[in-house]
Amino acid sequence: MANETRTNQKIEKVRRVAGLLKAAYGRQRKKKTLDPLDQLIFDLLAESSSERRARQAFKRLKADFVDWNEIRVSSLKEIESAISMVTQAPDKAGLAKKLLVEIFNGQHRVSLDFLREASDAVAERYLGNFEGLGKMAVENCMRILRQGGSGLTSEVARVLRRLNLIKSSLNQEEIEELLDEALPERRRSHFCRLVKAHAQRVCTLKGFVCGSCVLLLECPTGKSRTNRSKG
Ligand code: SF4
Repeated sequence: MANETRTNQKIEKVRRVAGLLKAAYGRQRKKKTLDPLDQLIFDLLAESSSERRARQAFKRLKADFVDWNEIRVSSLKEIESAISMVTQAPDKAGLAKKLLVEIFNGQHRVSLDFLREASDAVAERYLGNFEGLGKMAVENCMRILRQGGSGLTSEVARVLRRLNLIKSSLNQEEIEELLDEALPERRRSHFCRLVKAHAQRVCTLKGFVCGSCVLLLECPTGKSRTNRSKG
């Protein structure tokens, strides 16, 4: 019973926080995200080559082939000829084809979208297994995967933790459960975008000032910090 009351209080609080943030920041549009596989192939082409040449090669691939799946089933010669302007074109043609074949064999489609729902550790391990990809390529791809995900970033978790809505900012399941109960599905990702905006503008990692925060009355962390500074 006590647990149920606590959960209901948190649900009400999420809704109040959503209202306060919407009043403060308005509608937060979803940013157009890049395709993670596009980024991965681009970074593979750019490895030890100039960005300008990699961009030219990438454009040629996009113009000469219908999609990544067509490249997967094309001959190495055809791929190599499209990307001939980058250094080590024959090797890169082979690596790109191998990468596309491996993705298809595991997923029955040529897309990395399934990684958007995977944990960081799983996604990084998966990407790290591809031959020829540098650390930077994996990091760039991870950044794109996280942009298009549920929006539950570490920044969002930080604010929810300070608001005492969750116990641990590392437990994604706890956040998902709370938001599932508090908000209809169509409003959850917008709520995350609002919280993210707040995390970046006001409730920053360090040096955040609670006195003028719109969430102060809802926030135990903010109340204790402002009381301390008064005392
Ligand atoms: S009151 Fe302080 S800790 Fe709480 S949400 Fe605002 S800035 Fe963050």
